Amino acid sequence: MIKYIIFLLLFLILVPMLRGVLGLLAKLLMSWAMGSNSNAAARRGPGAPPSSPGTTALHKDPVCGVYVSEVTAVSCRDGNQTVWFCSTDCLNKYRKGA
Ligand SMILES: [Zn+2]
Repeated sequence: MIKYIIFLLLFLILVPMLRGVLGLLAKLLMSWAMGSNSNAAARRGPGAPPSSPGTTALHKDPVCGVYVSEVTAVSCRDGNQTVWFCSTDCLNKYRKGA
């Protein structure tokens, strides 16, 4: 019976200790993983072109001078170039003026 109590006490002491060690190991692994990630990002360097897939090219509306995204802009072929407008009003003004 005393053996059982000693085992139980050891178990109660060892479990939080193991938890602490495991927590520490997890923290170390996390910091190591984060560190290697930031190193990989740093290795890409400032020379690499900034890849921003969320953004699209901006074009200046020649009528009102507003910069418009390709997604929302109204486009018009003018000769061999594409002209971008903020609205069909600007497109019509451009066509009348041209
Ligand atoms: Zn416009």
